[in-house]
Amino acid sequence: MALELDSVTVRYGRTAAVSDVSLTVADGEVVALLGPSGCGKSTLLRTIAGLEQPSSGSVAWDSSDLAGVPVHRREFGLVFQDGQLFPHRSVAGNVAFGLRMRRVDREERDKRVLALLELVGLEGYAQRRVTQLSGGEQQRVALARALAPSPRLLLLDEPLSALDRALREQLAVDLARLLREASTTALVVTHDHDEAFTLADRVAIMSRGRVVQVGPPAEVWSSPVDVETAKFLGCNKFVPGSFVGLPVGRVGLRATALRVDPAGPLEGTVLERVHRRDHVRLLVDIDGEEYEAVGPVSVGDRVRLAVDLDGVARVGGE
Ligand code: ADP
Repeated sequence: MALELDSVTVRYGRTAAVSDVSLTVADGEVVALLGPSGCGKSTLLRTIAGLEQPSSGSVAWDSSDLAGVPVHRREFGLVFQDGQLFPHRSVAGNVAFGLRMRRVDREERDKRVLALLELVGLEGYAQRRVTQLSGGEQQRVALARALAPSPRLLLLDEPLSALDRALREQLAVDLARLLREASTTALVVTHDHDEAFTLADRVAIMSRGRVVQVGPPAEVWSSPVDVETAKFLGCNKFVPGSFVGLPVGRVGLRATALRVDPAGPLEGTVLERVHRRDHVRLLVDIDGEEYEAVGPVSVGDRVRLAVDLDGVARVGGE
């Protein structure tokens, strides 16, 4: 194991921002820490970086405890939400920063800077001022700068959340590709599940300072550990498994779980129709209960509905 957290607790005064977290990140693995705002993700990331000290528990790298190892000796790369670039330096000057600190010679440095700019899709940008770049370009520079000294672990704190949605989705795909191309070991903090599931080999869900579930994205998405986690992952209605034809106790339904289909097993009446970003969402009455559904029908219509299992989560590991 590369990174090992063992029962890490971090307190600010009397309140614990992180409680008893044990988590590992293997060599070459990308793990996302996913949870709502305030659940302790950044605090945990900052503790791994060495910017905060655990009140108890340990942070270790390759079985060696990092207590007492200062931030700059951990060989970890850091990328924050707002990039924190040096405004008076060029793109190349920013990317070369960590290499200069390590006294890498000039020729070697220039070569590495060009290779990294190519990796992040900014060929030809070396001499630009960073103040002339868009938000997305600045985050690419921040990423190249963090990767330049070949950190053994890359720590990313909401790296895309300052960008607008379309750019964020594109950059998440790019970031996933380049983390894999560079075989980077990384821990990414995010509150956005699309981002976590795009980037990560494993997702760790946090709630109120604790890691409540860890697993591959598909598993966490389809089997959240409890109702609170299921709600965080988009389920807004909870019904017995038999309702959707599954032999399990309880399932959570996402907005896309039910869709209009003349051959479907359920029947209801359309109460409302709302236009969303990329589809029409319906509110349907089935036996006196309201459910969300999707489909091209009108208010008042009597419709049949089929179950789309991608929109259904089994709750509580059942
Ligand atoms: P997240 O990254 O999930 O949004 P944070 O780690 O930033 O959560 O915060 C976790 C909890 O710790 C919150 O209740 C927050 O208010 C508190 N907290 C964070 N930083 C500090 C600090 N420097 N001093 C006191 N409390 C803090």
